[in-house]
Amino acid sequence: MRRPFEVVDHDALMARHQPPPEYFEGDWLAKPEDIERRQLAALKDRAQRAYQVPFFRKRWDAAGFHPDQLQSLADLSAAPAYKVDDLRASVEASPPLGDYQGASLDGVLEEPLRIFMSGATTGAPRPTLYTQWDREAGAILMARALYLQGVRPGDVVVNAWAYSTHNGAFAFDEALHKWLNCTVLTTGTGTVTSSRRQVELAHQYQATAILTTGDYLLHLAEVAKEMGLDPKVDLNLKALPNIGDSAVLEAAFGIPNYQSYGFHEVQWVSVECPERQGLHIYEDAFVVEIVDPETGKPVLEGEPGCICITETYKTGSPQFRYNIQDLSVLYPREQCACGSWLRRMGPFAGRADNMVKLRGVNVWPEAIGEIALDDPRLDHDYFVRATREGKRDEMTVHLTTPADPADWQGIAGAAESRLKERLGVRIGAEVAASGSLDAWTEIHTSPKPKRFRDEREG
Ligand SMILES: [Zn+2]
Repeated sequence: MRRPFEVVDHDALMARHQPPPEYFEGDWLAKPEDIERRQLAALKDRAQRAYQVPFFRKRWDAAGFHPDQLQSLADLSAAPAYKVDDLRASVEASPPLGDYQGASLDGVLEEPLRIFMSGATTGAPRPTLYTQWDREAGAILMARALYLQGVRPGDVVVNAWAYSTHNGAFAFDEALHKWLNCTVLTTGTGTVTSSRRQVELAHQYQATAILTTGDYLLHLAEVAKEMGLDPKVDLNLKALPNIGDSAVLEAAFGIPNYQSYGFHEVQWVSVECPERQGLHIYEDAFVVEIVDPETGKPVLEGEPGCICITETYKTGSPQFRYNIQDLSVLYPREQCACGSWLRRMGPFAGRADNMVKLRGVNVWPEAIGEIALDDPRLDHDYFVRATREGKRDEMTVHLTTPADPADWQGIAGAAESRLKERLGVRIGAEVAASGSLDAWTEIHTSPKPKRFRDEREG
């Protein structure tokens, strides 16, 4: 039996994936040719390993793609992409693990494994086996993001994520404990440790971050105020690695909130630097492409489309051209004012499977929400419905405001004009009182608020 510490060569690991803080004086500032040379070498290696996994071998053979064809980064698009439905079908055909895993429970005495599952908001959960190397490398990527967002070695950090079938709580813990020497105070969610107790602990230990959803963190700010504490002064928060509305979070805590992007199967992909000109991609671990939502072909630089991810850091279950159907853009490689040449992508801009073709124009609920909310009289809350009126598709955005009902019609009219002007199609807007969308968005019961419902038939 080989123990976890015997499996990973930590010198090799740190040479390939520098941990913070040295990363930000090192590979963060690498020259474009060095970034791409290393990226291509890692990509070739990853492709050869992925080819040993039945899920990939079948698809690649069928598409006439072989890993030896990878002679430049541009050759990557010759490999077939896949979507979440393909992974689900794999799990259904050979439960419980599918045929896309690059590790096996039979080999666990040689290399310890962990198993995590996707959030499974729709459909069956998708398991991923992580090798010890994958855990360590993934934790380094996450530690970098936490550092960039303001967490520093030696800090006390409250981890209020739910320990469950998914990756989040463990990944944060591993990053903080193993790569930042932070003292982790594990509280779990509000149902495990009451919100008052969460605030009390964060205050007593002067925690510099509370890891949880943006919504729950805002709730904790309210609880702190009820307890007579000023969240900006009495709490010692220095970082907001919380996903939520940046403007609202920054106003509540008086510190910056930087955006980041990642998902269950690949962990942390990219993070915004203080220049706020896009999210820098960890190119020692990923190749990010943007593809057309309908054709799957790479789009021109700067054009919106679906994020197609290839990770190059894992030794276990590969993700090689995974079209995750999250929308974003990829910017041309340029040096950022922070000094980094790492390519930048836009923030998460919605889900492609929520796309509605409205009179020939592709529209996404999240884009509608962003435009509709561009009015200080409105709450940061919206819900979009797609309906069919006769043979015509229609979309309506529902908005809320604390303003007097006499003003609602004017606010709705202004939102409709903005949408027509910026999207080029007519989208209806309806305004109601603050809080009236809570049952639709499930904002108090779901970790991720719902923003869209498709009510068209067929
Ligand atoms: Zn930058």
